[in-house]
Amino acid sequence: MDQPTPRPAPPEPDRRAVVCARCGKTVPDGPPPTWTCSVENGIRQYFCVDCARANLRAIEGRLDSSWW
Ligand SMILES: [Zn+2]
Repeated sequence: MDQPTPRPAPPEPDRRAVVCARCGKTVPDGPPPTWTCSVENGIRQYFCVDCARANLRAIEGRLDSSWW
């Protein structure tokens, strides 16, 4: 009756493992600040530093072509 109620800290939404959407690199502690977050079709995707650089041109290129 007199038990202390354990109150686990609520999980932080960004503290889950993330996977690079391009090369598949996995980070268990959530996305590092150096990673790029991109939302495509309502789905959040992360890109590691290397892939973000490579992907930047692709994203910009796609935007460009879609605006034409
Ligand atoms: Zn990557």
